[in-house]
Amino acid sequence: MVHIYTGNGKGKTTAALGLIARSLGRGKQVCLIQFMKKNFEYGEIQFYSQQKNLDIFQFGTDKLIEPNKPAAIDLEEAAAAYRKAKQVLKSQKYDLVVIDEINVAVSWGLLDLAKQLELMQLAGDAEVVMTGRYATDEAIEKADLVTEMREIKHYFSKGVKARKGIEF
Ligand code: ATP
Ligand code: MG
Repeated sequence: MVHIYTGNGKGKTTAALGLIARSLGRGKQVCLIQFMKKNFEYGEIQFYSQQKNLDIFQFGTDKLIEPNKPAAIDLEEAAAAYRKAKQVLKSQKYDLVVIDEINVAVSWGLLDLAKQLELMQLAGDAEVVMTGRYATDEAIEKADLVTEMREIKHYFSKGVKARKGIEF
């Protein structure tokens, strides 16, 4: 089954991380692939990197990407993330594969939509979760489960910055 967690509200990546915990608790084999996040300074990575039965692959740089004006390195990293995702899905080694922020990568022109749709096609018996804002209608159409996190309120609008242990 293919899940998509999208929308402008907080909770997409953390929902996927929660599903990882649930699956690991059942002895499942899990893989987390992250687009645009080559950074171990995330609480979840600190925690999950200690877990057996979970493989983590991060791609991207620690610099901000300008939407629709990606640098060459951003395109290379997204291409590498796609190749890894394809290899991981084809291996059929994992019960759950989370591909974090792939919707944003497509929306910002780092990855062709056709490639995301191809990855969805490769899910087979695995549970595949694709997160990120701006999921396309085509990806939504193809998925088996789609949840939209809709912002009703976010403390960012009253000036609260990203906090350790809550946002990262
Ligand atoms: P989280 O990682 O907390 O589950 P997310 O995956 O839903 O959030 P993203 O769209 O990936 O959120 O956004 C990246 C960062 O922006 C995260 O630190 C997230 O907490 C924060 N964020 C999420 N939604 C909002 C919002 N509506 N306004 C401001 N910041 C947000
Ligand atoms: Mg996220």
